[in-house]
Amino acid sequence: MFGLIGHLTSLEHAKAVAQELGYPEYADQGLDFWCSAPPQTVDHIRVKSVTGQEIEGKYVESCFLPEMLATRRIKAATRKIINAMAHAQKNGIDITALGGFSSIVFENFNLSQIRQVRNITLDFNRFTTGNTHTAYIICRQVEQASKQLGINLSEATIAVCGATGDIGSAVCRWLNQRTDAKELLLIARNQERLQNLQEELGQGKILSLEEALPIADIIVWVASMPRGVDIGAIPLRQPCLLVDGGYPKNLDAKVQAPGIHVLKGGIVEHSLDIDWRIMDIVKMDVPARQLFACFAESMLLEFEKLHTNFSWGRNQITLEKMDLIGNVSLKHGFRPLLLSF
Ligand code: NDP
Repeated sequence: MFGLIGHLTSLEHAKAVAQELGYPEYADQGLDFWCSAPPQTVDHIRVKSVTGQEIEGKYVESCFLPEMLATRRIKAATRKIINAMAHAQKNGIDITALGGFSSIVFENFNLSQIRQVRNITLDFNRFTTGNTHTAYIICRQVEQASKQLGINLSEATIAVCGATGDIGSAVCRWLNQRTDAKELLLIARNQERLQNLQEELGQGKILSLEEALPIADIIVWVASMPRGVDIGAIPLRQPCLLVDGGYPKNLDAKVQAPGIHVLKGGIVEHSLDIDWRIMDIVKMDVPARQLFACFAESMLLEFEKLHTNFSWGRNQITLEKMDLIGNVSLKHGFRPLLLSF
């Protein structure tokens, strides 16, 4: 059985969906209430592969909200993730993806040091960040959607915002070695990590957001920002492909101009309908078929009976692992979401 640990995008979103999911007692509550709410299994899922194989899974709502990070309620945020992991393990789930901010909270606050949650000793082999599949899908989206727009990678400048992150660094490695992209622009705040990445890649220009975005033909957005950022005032090239791989995905509302094409990054489309209701709630355009690539990673690991923490730790995603997960993604009928005109 596979599992997905997810969370909603904001307190406002949480209030709206609590009612829909049959938890009216959550609908009028403020952040304090969500800080103390326990994890809940809110969806039972069945997925069929194009090979004919069928698997079952559960969606665990951690009750984490990005406002907990933005208002420095760190203890509450970390408790949400650890409790959701214990809940998944207690319910016999073999492999669970840590979606959205769950893996970021886990890594940034060293939660690997907390193994004991009441009577459960967490077995980290049962969890995956899903970031290898996410990074693979984002790279394929860059390659395929640029073609849709007639942007030739060999003449393209690609800016990666969040370049030093787990997903961003894997995307940079792939673009560097597997494509003939003309130039990579590396964006993040910590200069030392940026320089280390530049050294590892043997190329890439370190620039600020304001310097990089106006000269990029393709922008890959994989920064983790609980508060989000408004890039509406920065002029962008036209045409420009903007692959929005962050969570929540809201860049399409912020940059609207002819010639600027925003693609939801790290999203896959399955070839067959999935029996679930959770993707309706996170407002996928085709909820029965579209999902986050990190969630799809736990499905793929279940299909392949690879019950192991395939994506774990930080900045350890190799091209070989991206190839492996990419091949099984295709085998079971997933494909990257592309632009629709
Ligand atoms: P990491 O925490 O590993 O990396 C985050 C990156 O963002 C770092 O390079 C960080 O560098 C950079 N960053 C953070 N704040 C800023 C800022 N203000 N300006 C510029 N750069 C910034 O995160 P992950 O790689 O694990 O995840 C990246 C994003 O992808 C997250 O939003 C996550 O929620 C999302 N995600 C989406 C999925 C999907 O849609 N399928 C699946 C999994 C994750 P520095 O701190 O030095 O600035």
